[in-house]
Amino acid sequence: MKITEHIANAKGRTLFSFELLPPLKGSSLQGIFNAIDPLMEFKPPFIDVTSSREDNAYKERGNGLLEKVTYRKRPGTVAVCAAIQHKYKVDTVPHLICGGFTKEETEYALIDLQFLGIDNVLVLRGDARKGDAGFIPTPGGHCYATDLLKQVTNMNEGIYLHEDQPSAYKTDFCIGVAAYPEKHFEAPNLKTDFKYLKQKIDGGANFIVTQMFFDNSKYKEFVTQCHENGINVPIIPGLKPITNLKQLVSLPKIFHIDIPEDLGDAIQACKNDNAVREVGIEWMINQCKELMEFGAPVLHFYTMGNAEPTKRIASALF
Ligand code: FAD
Repeated sequence: MKITEHIANAKGRTLFSFELLPPLKGSSLQGIFNAIDPLMEFKPPFIDVTSSREDNAYKERGNGLLEKVTYRKRPGTVAVCAAIQHKYKVDTVPHLICGGFTKEETEYALIDLQFLGIDNVLVLRGDARKGDAGFIPTPGGHCYATDLLKQVTNMNEGIYLHEDQPSAYKTDFCIGVAAYPEKHFEAPNLKTDFKYLKQKIDGGANFIVTQMFFDNSKYKEFVTQCHENGINVPIIPGLKPITNLKQLVSLPKIFHIDIPEDLGDAIQACKNDNAVREVGIEWMINQCKELMEFGAPVLHFYTMGNAEPTKRIASALF
């Protein structure tokens, strides 16, 4: 079922969903199932599975020589989605990214998804490779999420690559895109970022999932600005509790977000990571309660494979 249908069927009730990373190459799926099992009691209507492009790594080859190798550490997004859908009878949302995939490979992945009965995709540009100064498009691939979105909406119209005529066999994907209540870090200003977000919505995106944030006023302002810009699709807040002291620095650095002063002070006053986790979970529960009152359609948790904090938060809310 489509995400938009799940939201419509909920009739204003806030839903719970979460996101996982595919296992590292050479690991089994059991870790994924272990991360899902404790959260199924909260009846998520859908589960997202991220996608990652290849990264650069340097391998010692003896004599002090380093060889540059480029490979994907977490392949398997489509297969993980299919396995979850099969085992738990829950919808999955594979992330599709521009980086690391040619248009042909993307088309093949979309055909696989259609045949597997996966109805939703989240289309993204994707992160830059480690060691690259910025995002470098893959030759033969897409540069921006808008371009990838166009490929998916084309397939929804029966338009496949390299075919002369549209096909009668059309895909029917419900398409999500990313947005940043605190601005995407490369955008020169929020207004420009909104211009491109609006392009994604006008280009056929059906829902938005936001970057994580810790200050609800950022989300509320963002929703208001979306409405003022004629963006009226569901806006799903992305959420992640802080669970250790290091994240006070790493989350703003990696995700380009602010941590409110009160939360930062409370974390810095903690004696150890157990205490930090308690503060982070408590903050997130309060944040979620307010978001539910505000009418957020779904609370979407970036679990990063660690179910326990999300379970505690969901237990307090659902
Ligand atoms: P875009 O919408 O393409 O925007 C990228 C930047 O370019 C923005 O600054 C935008 O303002 C600008 N821009 C957009 N269109 C144009 C245009 N036509 N011309 C000029 N400038 C333009 N990364 C992964 O690698 N894998 C994942 O699974 C993943 N999942 C994510 C899930 C969510 C909910 C979020 C919020 C992010 C996720 N990311 C993931 C990270 C994301 O890929 C990065 O933040 C990336 O830098 C931007 O992706 P985007 O889809 O927002 O890009």
